Amino acid sequence: MSPAPQRPIHPVIAALTPAEHAAFLRRFHSKVQPNPDTGCHEWTAAACHLGYGRFGINNRPYLAHRIAWTLAHGKDIPDGLQIDHRCRNPRCVNPDHLDAVTPRDNTLASNSPSALNAAKLACDRGHLLIGHNLMTGPTGKRRCRICTNANTRRYQARRRLATEVAAYNAAVARGETPAPIGPFPLWWTPGDER
Ligand SMILES: [Zn+2]
Ligand SMILES: [Zn+2]
Repeated sequence: MSPAPQRPIHPVIAALTPAEHAAFLRRFHSKVQPNPDTGCHEWTAAACHLGYGRFGINNRPYLAHRIAWTLAHGKDIPDGLQIDHRCRNPRCVNPDHLDAVTPRDNTLASNSPSALNAAKLACDRGHLLIGHNLMTGPTGKRRCRICTNANTRRYQARRRLATEVAAYNAAVARGETPAPIGPFPLWWTPGDER
């Protein structure tokens, strides 16, 4: 028995308004925890009895890794193909670890971590490199907009903090008693890039 209905996903996503689509992506990303050791993007929310993540769209359940493949490739999983976890980790939704294969290939698939260096479909923190979130750097490198913006915010916060501290120290050096500075900006809290 199939662990969740393998209904087409792309038309459901395509029918979302831009606001609904953004909310859907935020909700999807919030359930993904990248594993720096394996490169897997592990599903932290509900899973089916086979270990595949489950995710609801419009109150209907879908398999999370099938959603990730569909989002990354911008089309439905071709008829007759299954999504194989190259990493053998059913909770993983890293599209770079997912291959659309024939059922026979899926049965024969080994543990070999081949071709993991193909064009990346997600950043190291698990954000899909699709649509508005895909940026192309000056050298043509694919970059994540969410992480790039978060890095910029942290950089600017550090610069502001350094400026404030320098001014405070200069005032102290002049023999003044400057007002205490702070509270210091929290330029990094886990998850602030989502
Ligand atoms: Zn994986
Ligand atoms: Zn990212």
